[in-house]
Amino acid sequence: MNPAIETRDLVKTYKSAYPRGGTPVKALDRLTFSVEEGTIFGLLGPNGAGKSTTMKILTTLSRPDSGQALVAGIDVQAQPDTVRRMIGYIAQKSGVDPESTGRENLTLQGQLHGLRGADLSKRVDELLDRFQLKDSAERPARGYSGGMQRKLDIALGLIHRPKVLFLDEPTTGLDPEARSNLWMLISTLAESGLTILLTTHYLEEADRLSERIAIVDRGRVVAEGEPVSLKGELKGDSVQVVFAEIQDAPRVKAALAQVAGIRDLVVDDKILRARADQAATAVAPILAALDAGGLKVVSVHLAQPSLDDVYLHHTGRSFASAEAQGASK
Ligand code: ADP
Repeated sequence: MNPAIETRDLVKTYKSAYPRGGTPVKALDRLTFSVEEGTIFGLLGPNGAGKSTTMKILTTLSRPDSGQALVAGIDVQAQPDTVRRMIGYIAQKSGVDPESTGRENLTLQGQLHGLRGADLSKRVDELLDRFQLKDSAERPARGYSGGMQRKLDIALGLIHRPKVLFLDEPTTGLDPEARSNLWMLISTLAESGLTILLTTHYLEEADRLSERIAIVDRGRVVAEGEPVSLKGELKGDSVQVVFAEIQDAPRVKAALAQVAGIRDLVVDDKILRARADQAATAVAPILAALDAGGLKVVSVHLAQPSLDDVYLHHTGRSFASAEAQGASK
């Protein structure tokens, strides 16, 4: 059976927009992953990792410099029209017309896809129901909450019963309640055989929603698998130490040099992250070593490894610092 989505060695370089003649940006650097039919797959990475560029190529909106992208076994560059008919794409920017009602938005979208008459009105009702928008169906979308607008956006992308749905950062900008409500809805969509590829820079979102993820960093997949397996591959527990003041990484590393069983250590400003074998017993020697090095500690936190630790393990940087770097580019 063909995977529902496949990318093979995608490369994409953008010419520098500013300054003119500046260094080109390699957004994708042989990006490769595949998604099984009927599953939710998360592309997780910090800002600037190349997620949206990948989405744009898969949805035929952009072309790679080299490499191949396939949807349901069809090459997106060779047969873009066929691919477009099979997919739904929900971009970060809303496609909802705020002056039209929810029902009007869906009806128009259906007409654009060639649906008519009873078939169309049945599909519109189905989607209003499924996305809990029935009671607001006759109100202009401008009065909808952020969460409701997002749901309407996803419903618009599903009107023509696509086989594959692309969701670019589906919950960015939503409050926590709206986010978890949307997570629930998205997780039920794959039950009907729909394949979903979502991009996110929220570690928790990738963890909660995706059966499998690919961690993307600087245009490459650095790890791929089930979130639980990726976390399970890491040895030891996660240790986080908060210092009273911003600290230099070399000074912290020097202080801990003699403490055994510490790995993947990074320091971002006031926070040290690392993993330690038997963290509960490692805490005392860690604190003693930091104290001996004159480093004042405010708090220590132990946890099971998270996707944050997986990212750190594969890239050598914390997700938060990569996000800050991406955003400041
Ligand atoms: P993500 O979606 O993971 O945040 P993107 O795919 O948007 O990442 O961007 C990947 C890299 O390509 C970034 O360094 C970004 O600045 C750059 N980039 C994206 N689009 C363009 C463009 N149209 N022109 C120039 N550079 C771009």
